[in-house]
Amino acid sequence: MLRVTNFRIPLTDDTPIDKLAAKRLKLPLAAIESVTIVRRALDARRKNNINFVYSLEVTVKMPEGQVLSRLSGDKDVVKAVPAASGAIETGTRPLTCQPVVIGAGPAGLLAAYILARHGYKPLLLERGRDVDRRTQDITAFWRTGRLDETSNVQFGEGGAGTFSDGKLTTRVSDPKLGQLLDLLVDWGAPPEIKYLHKPHIGTDKLRTIVKNIRTRIREMGGKVEFEARLTDVAIADGRLTGITVNDNRRIPCDVLFLGIGHSARDTYAMLYRRKVAMEAKPFAIGVRIEHPQELIDQAQYGPAAGHPKLGAADYALVYQDRSSGRAAYSFCMCPGGMVVAAASETGGVVTNGMSLYRRDTGIANSALVVNVTPADFGTDILSGIEFQRHYERLAFAAGGGGYAAPVQTVGDFLAGKSGGTNYLVHPSYRPGTTAVNLHRCLPACVTGTLAGALPDFGRKIQGFAHPGAVLTGVETRTSAPVRILRGQDFISQNTQGLYPIGEGAGYAGGIMSAALDGMNAAIAFIKAYKPL
Ligand code: FAD
Repeated sequence: MLRVTNFRIPLTDDTPIDKLAAKRLKLPLAAIESVTIVRRALDARRKNNINFVYSLEVTVKMPEGQVLSRLSGDKDVVKAVPAASGAIETGTRPLTCQPVVIGAGPAGLLAAYILARHGYKPLLLERGRDVDRRTQDITAFWRTGRLDETSNVQFGEGGAGTFSDGKLTTRVSDPKLGQLLDLLVDWGAPPEIKYLHKPHIGTDKLRTIVKNIRTRIREMGGKVEFEARLTDVAIADGRLTGITVNDNRRIPCDVLFLGIGHSARDTYAMLYRRKVAMEAKPFAIGVRIEHPQELIDQAQYGPAAGHPKLGAADYALVYQDRSSGRAAYSFCMCPGGMVVAAASETGGVVTNGMSLYRRDTGIANSALVVNVTPADFGTDILSGIEFQRHYERLAFAAGGGGYAAPVQTVGDFLAGKSGGTNYLVHPSYRPGTTAVNLHRCLPACVTGTLAGALPDFGRKIQGFAHPGAVLTGVETRTSAPVRILRGQDFISQNTQGLYPIGEGAGYAGGIMSAALDGMNAAIAFIKAYKPL
């Protein structure tokens, strides 16, 4: 098989890919056996000359050496290297109990799936409800403003990313990424995620995928339970011996994968009481910003905006405040999506964003956040959580109760005024919004940095700092405020048998990196232990 990289095809070229590949390899079409798209990225830096940039794997009906020698000196056409086998050899240490996985987010689901596939029959415990009931609970919250602390945007089957844009981008370079993408496609994800540079699934498709993973785990002998919250761990001589579920059910357990996500504040507090090794960690807080999607499309694609092959445009912006050393940046951008109420704790407003696969609401939204560190909130292990909670409660009060969120136009925010409702797009956050001064809901180090960043972002994306763009507060759950310390072997630094995984452990951020972390921890375990 041949690998063709850096293959640029203009947006306007509709020639079938096999014909283009044949031309690139200087071969007749009849000499092409098959063409697989391995990667497709978009280069829109020159608005009048937008290109897709492909990597292809091409099988030819002739000796590959002949093709390569004819193209010698062309560094973008080489022999493809076959992918390494994914087989894992199981270990020899005996197990005394069934391994338990906490949390049905990407980390926990993938850890449980890999364990089940290798014969370990895990028990997966999730504090929230199954994804169908969870969808009803969340819809009711957005409609009525009545929060269910058991089942919400942070808690329930699928984890935090289920009500999201389902972006699958990650900066993690892991050889198992391809395997993970293949699994997602088997479970119902659109096939193009395997090659797109910035793939996304959308909340609608994610919900189906999550159910299919659960079904596979059960088919392979694993158990999955909902409304099953880990409330305690028993540790003796630095070794895990058991867990308690829902305060009353004791389970002997010496191997526990802890994939609790970044919002399980009660669980962090319990681990702290049990002296599991943890540390406070930096994260970021800020607001959501909304624009008409058309404005972003125009700025990113120029005259090609609206072209059916392009879809809704995204952006990634960074601003460095030289005097304070702080950075403001866009985060979790959702093209064609909406701002969502993502609270999990009574009396606190939290924002986030999501989209359907089609990304067709006409609204572009993104978090604009500023990094904060223990120097801002204290080095006590749980002080970052208190810091988040403080601003979530200020936002709740500023919104006027019932989980209405505080909003402010960019014009008012920069002018230090409030109450303006001359919105470029109507705020999409439900159950409602109240126009107030967001400076009252966030620390000055954050609002000051955002005030510096907005004009800078307006220079990078025309119209971004339009006075009518909408800011909604507060975005506090960007990553875990705590790290559950572990070694290279994925095991807690001071508790044998405990495998902290995913975003909540502080070793991942985003759906893909959390899922990969869960897979890698499960593989490390499998290499050490043999099934019961
Ligand atoms: P989580 O997904 O948070 O899962 C943890 C699970 O553990 C939860 O289901 C929780 O209920 C459960 N749990 C917690 N404590 C306990 C306990 N004591 N007992 C039992 N169960 C427990 N990332 C992206 O890459 N792309 C996106 O487009 C994207 N959009 C997002 C949109 C929203 C609205 C949100 C909230 C997040 C988004 N993210 C996105 C981030 C992404 O969801 C997370 O990085 C990812 O889900 C982390 O996976 P995880 O498995 O580590 O934790």
